[in-house]
Amino acid sequence: MSRRDLVLGVLGGGQLARMLAQAASPLGIRTVALDPAEGGCAADVAMTRQAAWDDWEALQAFAEQVDAVTFDFENVPAATARWLAERVPVYPPPAALEVAQDRLSEKTLFRACGLPTPEFRAIGSKDDLIAAVNGIGLPAILKTRRLGYDGKGQFRLRETADLEAAWDALGAQADTVGLILEAFVPFERELSVIAVRDRQGGFRCWPLTRNWHVDGVLSLSLAPAPQVDTALMAEAMGHARTLAERLQYVGVFALELFVRDGQLLGNEMAPRVHNSGHWTIEGAVTSQFENHVRAVLGLPLGLTTARGQAAMFNWIGEMPDRGAALAVPDLHWHDYGKSARAGRKVGHATICAAEPAVLAARLEQAAQWLQREAQAEPAVSLLREA
Ligand code: AMP
Repeated sequence: MSRRDLVLGVLGGGQLARMLAQAASPLGIRTVALDPAEGGCAADVAMTRQAAWDDWEALQAFAEQVDAVTFDFENVPAATARWLAERVPVYPPPAALEVAQDRLSEKTLFRACGLPTPEFRAIGSKDDLIAAVNGIGLPAILKTRRLGYDGKGQFRLRETADLEAAWDALGAQADTVGLILEAFVPFERELSVIAVRDRQGGFRCWPLTRNWHVDGVLSLSLAPAPQVDTALMAEAMGHARTLAERLQYVGVFALELFVRDGQLLGNEMAPRVHNSGHWTIEGAVTSQFENHVRAVLGLPLGLTTARGQAAMFNWIGEMPDRGAALAVPDLHWHDYGKSARAGRKVGHATICAAEPAVLAARLEQAAQWLQREAQAEPAVSLLREA
């Protein structure tokens, strides 16, 4: 009997496509990544096609080559996703992608689903901005509605005098990608829910992740998030489930939350595998990447249980010298093979342990060797208290 391999198509050829391909391979699933840019880091481990998002001939050939299509980043034009969905299963569904592409529709959906958000207003003009600052108060953050990521397309307003500078920085984008003003939330912590929904509606969450950002970019994640009571955990996961069902979502997504005065506020939803879920590769029974592959191809989901405690460092700009850090027990190095560039995510490392105290010691040791003590410090002290 002949067997035909399943083939997963991924729009985008960066590190998420690369890790999806790495998870797909042992399942006997091949990956083809399509990207308008040349030289994405998925090319080391997946077949790649270079084509523009409106190169319909190339997209037709791609659709014929794959069994399902998914995304490695959310800013694929909705028209491309919809066109492909007429030819091959596309997950998450293009309609869900569209909601998550726009901070305004995303936050409006959160509220409609009963998840509170920071105060926000749509901004179309400088007068709108003045009125919104008066209404919401300061500090606040002006953000592009679309195409922003990793803290890009954001301007923090601390006092009224910052209004001019904020408009100078982002005002020109009011007519292109749109703008939104959000109240700045003095949160106690940031959490994310990494969740997966399959084609039959089966839903699973990994344990919650605690995240620390620097300049709007994820720096460190710790999972399962320590000191989260069961009610808050159930509430966070309940919100993720409600959103997934409302969107008829299929695949993995991340729901990013702020905790303020013990209450959850929705920040954003990433309609894809997410940086704060990278720890699941070694720290959970089934990784977010493997479960995403399973979900979009209609295969049964794997368990999302944590194997113990895990911490993930992000490497931004350039990879540190791994040096002696590899000697740390249960440390896992991920170099995406990208060239160095300021602000770019070039790799990560996950450290695992069965017990929080053991992870604290390992994290401290690795941070010392890698000269990242300040980055690791909040997680180390939290783990020592656990
Ligand atoms: P975003 O791209 O919107 O997820 O923003 C990146 C990071 O900036 C978040 O994870 C927070 O650390 C911070 N941030 C974004 N929006 C707010 C807000 N309204 N209040 C406080 N911090 C924020």
